[in-house]
Amino acid sequence: MPRRLVSSRFIVTIFGALCLASTNATYGQNSAGPQPVALPAPVPAPVDKPYGGTIALSVDLTNVNDRVLNVHETIPVNSDEVTLLYPQWLPGNHAPSNPIAFLAALVVTADGKRISWVRDRVNMWAFHVAVPKGAASLELTFQYLAPVNPQQGRISTKIADLTWNSVLLYPAGYFARRIQFAPELRLPEGWKFATALEVKSQRGNTIQFKDVSLNTLIDSPLYAGVNFRRVDLSPDSDNAVFLDVFADKPEQLEITPQELEYHKNLVIQAQKLFRSRHYEHYDFLFSLSDSVGGKGLEHHQSSEDGTRGNYLIDWPAGIAGRALLAHEYTHSWNGKFRRPADLWTANFNEPMQNDLLWVYEGLTDYYGNVLTARSGLYTPEQARDEFAEIAANFEISPGRTWRSLDDTTNHPIMSFHGILPQSWPSWQRSFDYYPESDLIWLEADVLIRELSNGQKSLDDFARLFFGTDNGSYITVTYTLEDLVKTLNTVQPYDWAGFFRERVYDVAPQVPTNGITRGGYRLVYNDTEPERMKHLDPSRGTTFATSLGFSLKGDGGDKSGAVIGNVWWDSPAFKAGVTPDMKLQAVNDLAFSPANLRAAILAAEKTNTPIKLLLKRDEDFLTISIDYHGGLRYPHLERVQAAPGRLDAILSPVE
Ligand SMILES: [Zn+2]
Repeated sequence: MPRRLVSSRFIVTIFGALCLASTNATYGQNSAGPQPVALPAPVPAPVDKPYGGTIALSVDLTNVNDRVLNVHETIPVNSDEVTLLYPQWLPGNHAPSNPIAFLAALVVTADGKRISWVRDRVNMWAFHVAVPKGAASLELTFQYLAPVNPQQGRISTKIADLTWNSVLLYPAGYFARRIQFAPELRLPEGWKFATALEVKSQRGNTIQFKDVSLNTLIDSPLYAGVNFRRVDLSPDSDNAVFLDVFADKPEQLEITPQELEYHKNLVIQAQKLFRSRHYEHYDFLFSLSDSVGGKGLEHHQSSEDGTRGNYLIDWPAGIAGRALLAHEYTHSWNGKFRRPADLWTANFNEPMQNDLLWVYEGLTDYYGNVLTARSGLYTPEQARDEFAEIAANFEISPGRTWRSLDDTTNHPIMSFHGILPQSWPSWQRSFDYYPESDLIWLEADVLIRELSNGQKSLDDFARLFFGTDNGSYITVTYTLEDLVKTLNTVQPYDWAGFFRERVYDVAPQVPTNGITRGGYRLVYNDTEPERMKHLDPSRGTTFATSLGFSLKGDGGDKSGAVIGNVWWDSPAFKAGVTPDMKLQAVNDLAFSPANLRAAILAAEKTNTPIKLLLKRDEDFLTISIDYHGGLRYPHLERVQAAPGRLDAILSPVE
């Protein structure tokens, strides 16, 4: 999953909840009242043995108007008690984040008779069912109530992202790869679909897929929709890769020959990097939509990708989503085929441990950016801007003075994958194991090139580490020791010490050696970077590196612009600006981003503070910020005396 998409997906009211005193005070006092239910047996641990029989799963996706998915399951049984699990821990989310509260209307029957279920008292994702004598199977019906709010959900009346983990229950006690499913799906009339699953048969709008293990099923989501185009990106007949584009409007599916070439280059450059593949065929499931939220989630043979509707039809404006596909595609090698040992689990309800996410996500983020540049999806300047932005953000984020990068890998679990909001992310730290690792892996790459006199690079490591078992998609796990050993094979060095200092120790210094030894230096000036210039202003405007805050939206509204984030210890922070304020005026002029930029530029030449009129609830506050440092946009500036190793890294491999 890419870091831009991992926060604020869901906005939930958590602080408004009331602690209701029990109104059932007499419960248990009246002998005629309800009797306590006998506590069920604990949830059985998964065992590596086959589950008897195939589970028939039928999902009805036709009610997209209400975003209600109706599910029917037939589960063969051969014991007198079954615990049914709703998947809790989702690969790629690295968190116990599958929302069980969206499951409703669960009814279980056996031999035509309704039987009761009881939810586990500790594990909300587990349901205990006593199986009647002689019953050979359980029939289940339930609903998945997908969010109706378009910013929270991934199903609209034109596009649907069907994640099988939302629409199935499975028996506890078995490895997920040993449970077989026969999936069936009913789509709205006229809808098309794409998935890595193999079709067994299709009758009208009902599709039956070939039997798959639970592992493969959850790893093979399906996109469907009204407007669809399948773009062939295959470089040759034995490397089948497709871009399956679903859009709100048919015109958003148009792809120019140049854009097609960039996307084909991505597949070619990834092949040159890894020299292997771990899929039969690969499908980028890609939604271009302003009606469903963005997404990036990796799978072995596909990825769930989603960005704005203008991605193809307004190429410069689509810059924010440009590195998405390269990131998710890299995960087919790093994350899916090879996975940190602690992140491998036997089923979807065993807890994961995230300690090597700085490799799983961090190295993927690095190669995502590198491949985006090598394929032409980014210009070299845009790729350098990306590294400059990352480094600049850490220079103004002091959370690194108290918390190690390693500890941030716990963030998805602690925050339920970013659902819990943070007031001071630059101090608390959040998903830093993505961008900070970009800088660390860049440094490792530059170091290998330096020490080997240009004979070796991190690409040699990638080939050795991920390029094994060509054609296989059976996960091979790795540990930190494996990583260090392979790096030493490529270039002997104290790699254990290198990572200990940067990842496991508290390391206040921003790791910018990769930039400086790559032939560049981080500079700040008043010129807006090429990459930032094209970002959609409705996504927010940043003054992070100057005054120290960002704004939600473009501030066009007369009621002012909502402060999005205030950087800890920044000039705005020290002056008392907080993220619950709205910016109304700048130097007595109504606020607009242009007015604020002009005020910052003017203050560069005077000693007069910048005066902001802010509003918090009903109160107006005037806050003066004595700041004269200019706009301070970050850039990488070439240092001619040093070898241009960063340029070499970002150049296409011939
Ligand atoms: Zn990722």
